[in-house]
Amino acid sequence: MNHLDPFPGPMVAAVRAASRICRRVQAELGESDSIEKDDRSPVTVADLAGQALVARRLCDAFPHLPLVGEEDSGDLRRRPALLERVVACVRTEWTAAAEAAVLEAIDLGSEEGGPEGRYFTVDPIDGTKGFLRGDQYAVALALVENGAPAIGVLGCPNLAHPDGSQGLVLLAVRGRGTRVLPLDGEGADGGSAPCAVSDLEDSEAIRMCESVEAAHTAQGESAVVAKELGIMARPVRIDSQAKYAVLALGGAELYLRIPTNPRRREKIWDHAAGSIVVTEAGGAVTDLDGVPLDFGRGRTLSINRGIVATNGRVHDKVLRALRGLRG
Ligand code: AMP
Ligand code: MG
Repeated sequence: MNHLDPFPGPMVAAVRAASRICRRVQAELGESDSIEKDDRSPVTVADLAGQALVARRLCDAFPHLPLVGEEDSGDLRRRPALLERVVACVRTEWTAAAEAAVLEAIDLGSEEGGPEGRYFTVDPIDGTKGFLRGDQYAVALALVENGAPAIGVLGCPNLAHPDGSQGLVLLAVRGRGTRVLPLDGEGADGGSAPCAVSDLEDSEAIRMCESVEAAHTAQGESAVVAKELGIMARPVRIDSQAKYAVLALGGAELYLRIPTNPRRREKIWDHAAGSIVVTEAGGAVTDLDGVPLDFGRGRTLSINRGIVATNGRVHDKVLRALRGLRG
């Protein structure tokens, strides 16, 4: 018996349920399904419905644990038509959901996190821009304990499972490795298989991935780092924490994220699940200066700058190449 044992089952079930909502919405996306938030980033009915569902399920299973979620109910309270669409989506998984209960569930995610104790963090759709394009996105849920992820669950509905089926879930538990599960399965053990990062050491053969969106990472600077390392192949551009998933499955050796704005800090829900999925699969994750990610600073990774995730074996080489970048 381990103190983390109660968590994987409900966390995996919540991610699968939110992923089913995302799939339905992505399959029939209409213009009225997305709006622009105050920060000009897009949000869809599936982001809001997914957060409501995950929050409700976690709160029922673990009533005392705070949730740090990306979304809040502000826009929905001003837009009755959007709220109606969101409630209809939620009801496909939570049949008794009423408007007030959905709004309340979304706002369960308004906690701040912090250095001590435990909290959950959720990004109901990471990579919303990819989701809207019909590309990759992820449902990301983590349990953070004393500032470090203890469990990560990543649902990737558009990544192929190693057995060839569409969609997968990665589950990482601290000290117990990362496992890959079918998205459509049941339970946190059934049909799961261990997954491991690649064992490549030769820097010229590194397969690098990065964001599709040029605003999210300095693609030009990454190209300079790649050249410094002697990497021949072009980077593979993938939206969302699906990049961490590809690394954990051994399909790439490097995920580089270099801020385009030096003042920007990463959000905890964009990296908590993905980073433990990679480290438990044998990889390494730090910021661009080699500093470990600190998830105990509130809603952002305020002491970290950018992200370097690797298979572990090439990590130091990449950090050295990054030092060269800054002269
Ligand atoms: P990706 O699909 O890897 O590009 O990451 C998607 C995430 O990028 C979203 O969840 C946002 O939180 C985050 N994001 C939005 N704007 C920026 C930005 N200017 N720089 C870095 N990340 C961003
Ligand atoms: Mg996100």
